[in-house]
Amino acid sequence: MEKIDIKSLNYDQIIEEMTKIGEKPFRAKQVYEWLHVKLVDSFDEMSNLSKALREKLEANYKIIRTKEVAKRVSKDGSTSKFLFELYDNRVIESVLMKYKHGNSVCISSQVGCRMGCRFCASTLGGLERCLTASEMLDQIYQIQKISGERVSNVVVMGTGEPLDNYDNLVQFVRMLTDEHGLNISQRNITVSTCGLCERIKQLADEELQITLAISLHAPNDEKRRELMPVANKYSISEIMDACKYYYSKTSRRITFEYSLVKGVNDGQEQAMELVQLVKGLNCHINLIPVNPIKERDYVQSDNSYIQNFKNILEKKRINVTIRREMGSDIDAACGQLRKSYIDNK
Ligand code: SAH
Repeated sequence: MEKIDIKSLNYDQIIEEMTKIGEKPFRAKQVYEWLHVKLVDSFDEMSNLSKALREKLEANYKIIRTKEVAKRVSKDGSTSKFLFELYDNRVIESVLMKYKHGNSVCISSQVGCRMGCRFCASTLGGLERCLTASEMLDQIYQIQKISGERVSNVVVMGTGEPLDNYDNLVQFVRMLTDEHGLNISQRNITVSTCGLCERIKQLADEELQITLAISLHAPNDEKRRELMPVANKYSISEIMDACKYYYSKTSRRITFEYSLVKGVNDGQEQAMELVQLVKGLNCHINLIPVNPIKERDYVQSDNSYIQNFKNILEKKRINVTIRREMGSDIDAACGQLRKSYIDNK
């Protein structure tokens, strides 16, 4: 019989498992704490459990862990990028960003991605597989252990489309914010999606207080289809409806991500169109100067265009920020370090 991935089980599920193997339910609290607070990687380390119980656990369950295989730190020390190897030798990347207000980790939700966004390095090799809840959690756990830093914010903006791995994503969010575990505030978690509308509505119904970020990247469907194949499936107006629904259920302000590509979506006209699109919506726009990847000839917008785009939005009193480029000296954009690691191998 295949061993169960115990780190993917939530608190209630562990209680059930303990009962199944003839243990008292209170053992669940101890086991959960070892896995999700003390962050151990083996049953042997669970020193307040009897040897007999540890052996029983070992026989029935496995502890998934992600293994650090490479790390790069930006020159200013603010950003560290980690490559982790999974049990099946596949690699994923995660990023630690240190800010004055706390530490933020960007995690991957899949190995590869099947969404095909033209400017994104994560999608070049297609989707290999989804990550389990334990593999998403462990990126954060290992980073805490390696860096000795406490993580206060988590963004699911690494490789993969989180809503294409829906059940594991929701399990991950609930476990990360569980009071028995790391207990990170839901408000400090952001999930970024290319806009899978049914899933956005489903997520709205989960009664979570997480921030939803939508990768918009264009103010109209025609332009969006040039950059994102998923735009053939969902129109911007469907996305807007899903966002309104999300807001009505959660009262959480929506973030729109807009990567600026020179001569493609960075003009005054597009900025004005974007204003019309989001007018009246409680939202925030995050402008991302595109990070060029060598497989595509997209170029970053000139600074004057970026500023101009921002000014147009600001004049119409839309919340807008330009994403600080942290760690571009270490291939910190989605999928680039992983890609260069695999290419070199
Ligand atoms: N699949 C999710 C998460 C992916 S990455 C999504 O689509 O939202 C997080 C953000 O980075 C997305 O907005 C994505 O479109 C953007 N992105 C990916 N590659 C980029 C690049 N080379 N330059 C700028 N932004 C990029």
